[in-house]
Amino acid sequence: MTLNYKAELVGVFGYPVSENPTGVMQEAAFAALGLNWRYLTVEVRPEELPDAIRGMRAFGMQGINLTIPHKVTVLPLLDEISPEATMIGAVNTVRRQGQRYSGENTDGKGFLRGLTDEAGVSPKGLKVVILGAGGAARAIAVELALAGARELTIVNRSNERGQAMVRDVQNRAGANAHFAPWTGTVSVPPDVDILVNATSIGLYPETDVMPDVVLDDARPDLLVCDVVPNPPETRLIQAARARGLKTLTGLAMLVYQGAIAFEMWTGQPAPEAVMKHALQEAFGN
Ligand code: NDP
Repeated sequence: MTLNYKAELVGVFGYPVSENPTGVMQEAAFAALGLNWRYLTVEVRPEELPDAIRGMRAFGMQGINLTIPHKVTVLPLLDEISPEATMIGAVNTVRRQGQRYSGENTDGKGFLRGLTDEAGVSPKGLKVVILGAGGAARAIAVELALAGARELTIVNRSNERGQAMVRDVQNRAGANAHFAPWTGTVSVPPDVDILVNATSIGLYPETDVMPDVVLDDARPDLLVCDVVPNPPETRLIQAARARGLKTLTGLAMLVYQGAIAFEMWTGQPAPEAVMKHALQEAFGN
């Protein structure tokens, strides 16, 4: 047998990055499938990103994840950008194809896989309210529009950011989207099928807060989704469950966006249950 000690490399570039849990779940997946792959969690300062990308190329890495603050600034450093990542305006996953490196975005795709595979809901023809207009909200809105959602209402604290997002998802993804300013409490009307919290409200360590929404008028089969992965049982998810509503957590989105990146890199189906378990252990829940 020929010995081969050379591992395939992937990883994440971010700043700060030390609390990024993705390595735990990807390493667990590599171990489960017996793959000699390594996931490196690398702190890269904003001004060092071009050098880091050159390093990725020099090392022949199979790909990389990008997190804060690199998801947008990486675009001009890559050889191509997928249509979805172009529409979203951000890249969270790079994959190597031959000698070329392509920018992808798996955040919205991960959300969508959770919607269909875990919550059993197809977004086609549905009406969705999205709270937030940042990177996560944009990724989700684009993928929902491409999957045939009927109407998207974007509710955001900053009007300027919310309106810019509506314009972009209309123009780039053909979404039927409109903006609603976030003034006071948002009441979810009965014709809404899915509510998504795509803000960071409720994220550890500020776990005692929830978005200012009321669910009194919501339909009984409303699906309430949160992007906040830690804790998975956010106040919003708890409030929805207390009303008997269906829920989809940010942990599911995190697992599935990682599973899709794993599949892009390795070409193998991701061991999703292993990845979810690894993250739950990392989060201590
Ligand atoms: P951004 O900074 O790009 O956007 C943050 C959004 O949250 C903005 O719309 C901001 O509104 C809103 N927001 C923040 N605080 C408040 C508040 N107190 N009241 C009202 N609105 C608020 O962040 P991202 O989109 O990158 O990330 C958002 C969340 O998504 C994070 O918690 C992150 O962990 C999570 N995430 C989860 C993923 C997963 O796989 N589960 C993947 C990616 C992100 P404004 O524009 O007014 O500032």
